[in-house]
Order: sequence, then C-alpha cells, then structure tokens
Amino acid sequence: MKALDELTFDNRFARLGDAFSTHVLPEPLDEPRLVVASKAAMALLDLDPAVAETPVFAELFGGHKLWAEAEPRAMVYSGHQFGGYTPQLGDGRGLLLGEVYNEAGEHWDLHLKGAGMTPYSRMGDGRAVLRSSIREFLASEALHALGIPTSRALCVIGSSTPVWREKQERGAMVLRLAHSHIRFGHFEYFYYTKKPEQQAELAEHVLNLHYPECREQPEPYLAMFREIVERNAEMIAKWQAYGFCHGVMNTDNMSILGITFDFGPFAFLDDFDAHFICNHSDHEGRYSFSNQVPIGQWNLSALAQALTPFISVDALKEALGLYLPLYQAHYLDLMRRRLGLTTAEEDDQTLVEGLLKLMQNSGVDYTLFFRRLGDESATLAVARLRDDFVDMAGFDAWAERYKARVARDGDYTQEQRRERMHAVNPLYILRNYLAQNAIAAAEAGDYSEIRRLHEVLSKPFEEQAGMEQYAQRPPDWGKHLEISCSS
Ligand code: AMP
Ligand code: MG
Repeated sequence: MKALDELTFDNRFARLGDAFSTHVLPEPLDEPRLVVASKAAMALLDLDPAVAETPVFAELFGGHKLWAEAEPRAMVYSGHQFGGYTPQLGDGRGLLLGEVYNEAGEHWDLHLKGAGMTPYSRMGDGRAVLRSSIREFLASEALHALGIPTSRALCVIGSSTPVWREKQERGAMVLRLAHSHIRFGHFEYFYYTKKPEQQAELAEHVLNLHYPECREQPEPYLAMFREIVERNAEMIAKWQAYGFCHGVMNTDNMSILGITFDFGPFAFLDDFDAHFICNHSDHEGRYSFSNQVPIGQWNLSALAQALTPFISVDALKEALGLYLPLYQAHYLDLMRRRLGLTTAEEDDQTLVEGLLKLMQNSGVDYTLFFRRLGDESATLAVARLRDDFVDMAGFDAWAERYKARVARDGDYTQEQRRERMHAVNPLYILRNYLAQNAIAAAEAGDYSEIRRLHEVLSKPFEEQAGMEQYAQRPPDWGKHLEISCSS
C-alpha cells in the first residue's frame, strides 16, 4: 500500500506535445474538504485507504498541491453535439494531471474535473458544482459495481468557493480515473482540422497503448476499429439491460475504450419507459433511452468517418455492420439471465419484448420486477407480481409463456434459481431521488448520506441489513426530477 507521495507517474499523453494538449495549472478551491472517497478506486492506485482522511488528500484533489512528476494538461478535441459538428471543444473544466501506474503495471489517468479555466473553456467558468460532482462519483462507482464498463471516481472534494449556475452553488472537484481520456472527438478534431501527421500520431498512440493485440492483425487499424465497435455494442447492451440512460451521447463524450464516460444528466430508469429522456435540455429526445442503441451506431459512424485516412470505406462499413447483431446478442443474453434462463430459444426475443411492453403500459418498476421475479419460483413470483400490471389479462398470457419457458429451461431448485437471478438482478440502483437526497444533505454539510449510499451501491446484488429504504420506488417528488446539462 502506498502513501500519496509514493505514486509513480508516466505521462504518455503529455509527451505527445502541445498539438494535443496545453499545460494548465489547477485553480485551487477555497477550504477544500473530503466529501467522499472510493476505497475500491483507491486500491486501483495501490493507495492506503487511510490517506483519504489526511488534509493533504483534499489539498491534492482540491487543486492546491501537485506531485512534482504530475504534468497537468487540458486536452483538445472536438465532436458532434446533438448531431451537429462543433469544431473545437476540449477540456474546458478538467485537467489530465498525469498517468499513474500501479504495481500490476496498469496505467491510470488522473483527471481532475472542475479544476478551473483552460484555453477550451469557451463561455464556461471552468468549475463543477458539488451536485454534479456527487452524481458523477456515485454513477461511476455504481456502474462499475453492476459490471458495466465505466470510468471510475476516486473522490469528491467540496469547498466554500461560490459557483453560479441557476443559483449560487459551491464548487467541487471529482477525481476521475480511466485508462485513457481519449474520445471519439479526438480523432474528429485532427481529421476535420486536416492535421494528418498528428492524426497518425494519435492513432499510433491509441493502438500501441490501448489495443496492442491489434498490432498482430494484418490491418491493425481496422482490427482496432472493430474492437471499438464490439466494446460499444457490449457497453450499450448493458446500459439497456440495466436501464441506464446516459443523457448526452455526443461524440466528445464517447470513450475510445468503450467505457461509460463523461456523466451529465444521466439516470437509471425507475418505471420502465422506452421513451424516457433524462436530459431536460434534450427537447427532441435524441438521447432517449431506446434511441441509445441507434445513436451508438451513429457515433461509431462519426468515428469511422474520421478514420477514413487509415481504413478503406468498405472495411469501415463492414465493421460498422457488426454493431447491431453484436448489440442484440449481448442484450438478449443479459435479458435471458435476468429472466433466470440458462438456455437460448428462438422466441426469447419476443418474450422479452412482450414483457417490456406490459411494463411500459403499467409503469412497472424496472429493477424491482426482476429482483422479485427471482425471489420465488416462476409460478409463485408471477402470481405475486401480477398486481403491478394494469393489463392483468395481458400479463397472465405473458406469465403462461414464461412459466412454460422456465419449465423447458431445465431442472433446478428454487435456491439455485434465486442465487443465479439475484447475481444479475440488483436490489439497489442509483435512483435519481436517492442521489438527490444525498446531494441535499451534502449541500447542507452532512456527507454521511452520500457515503452510505456509495457503500450500498457498491454491493448492488447483495441484500444489506437495515438498508431497505434504498430499495424503494421513488416517492412522488422524486419521480420526475429535471436534470439539465448546466452542471
Ligand atoms: P459536457 O457537457 O460536460 O460534456 O461538456 C461539453 C464541453 O463544454 C466540454 O468541452 C467541456 O469541457 C465544456 N464545459 C462544460 N461545462 C463547462 C464549464 N463550467 N466551464 C468550462 N467548460 C465547460
Ligand atoms: Mg464532455
């Protein structure tokens, strides 16, 4: 276990030079204090969890101190935002402090979000508020616990620095960890600004550091793109299976590693709603829950366009063609498991679709339905769950199909069924109202609620004694919280 001054840096992205990023120092927050830290994320850096409580921890991640080997940089990129191309974006309020490698030889980017103005801040103030920092922290760690690929969060540091949004709030910083912060938008930037040399350098960098196995392939860049397509298909299948709505799937928010990245107005579904729009600013529903699937492909096409200098258009099209079938295969596999099925049948797709339609029409809680389905035998469970549906006859017809399907699936005890289903069906998810409660307490200076919620969500599949209130459907006030981009 390491102390804070024992981290070892190897700043590979910074070494690419000034065409890729700009040196900027963090702007410190006033009176920095620890709001919450993730022990699991600290372990990724081999850090002793006790160091989170030391004053130097809040000073480092509140922008007051820096390691001598850190090289803080703001990255430049561009991207398609809500379908339109923005020629220059970049880290407007976050800095890549450096890359740390751990004892297992893994590199982790330390990215400090909310660290002040940079040359890419445009109209912004370079800050992040406590509310959005808490949301990013909780979401990163909750998604990871669900087995969904994501960037991680080490800690949130609060402060007394005033920051203006619709009202006065307090500035905060979140320390994000990822193997890379390179986005689709990095490739788009060098492609559209017609900088082929830098673009080639970027492609080599990503290939060598993040997709070294593709080097062995006859066409390494094509192999890398194919892998990116596959990872995105799998990640989005997991979002859909667990009811996660990203909210701002702009290409500057899409990681080259196929991990969930750059959290804004995200949400987990409470009631199942295929048309759910979690971002209050998304008036046309471009990023609605069910649109995430085609948008994933749209984003990959935008990346493909930027890769045309390296890969033939035909090969890119063929690789893009893998996306939907792969998505469907991953999604169906997960949904079968959520239904407790161990075998595959042709009609499973319609079994899943039929259920979702019934849930949609009756506003059934997406998470609790699956959890309760595993609590008992198929017969007993559907008899109990029936009351949640308005169209009871419709549900009865579905339940008959389901029971017959379960009977054909195999011979196992209820104990085995419960264990298998509970291992894939969480009891606790990051519901908006739970985040909101934790935020309200934190804004009043009480960090116990966010710490407790983080703990509960780190073991989402395990029933935890005394934590029943975290497994409840939202109260009326918590059902339609409006979350916008202004964070
Ligand atoms: P986001 O919606 O957080 O993905 O941000 C989109 C772009 O706006 C990125 O280039 C961000 O760095 C930038 N941005 C967002 N909020 C701010 C802010 N408060 N100050 C400066 N830049 C920001
Ligand atoms: Mg972003």
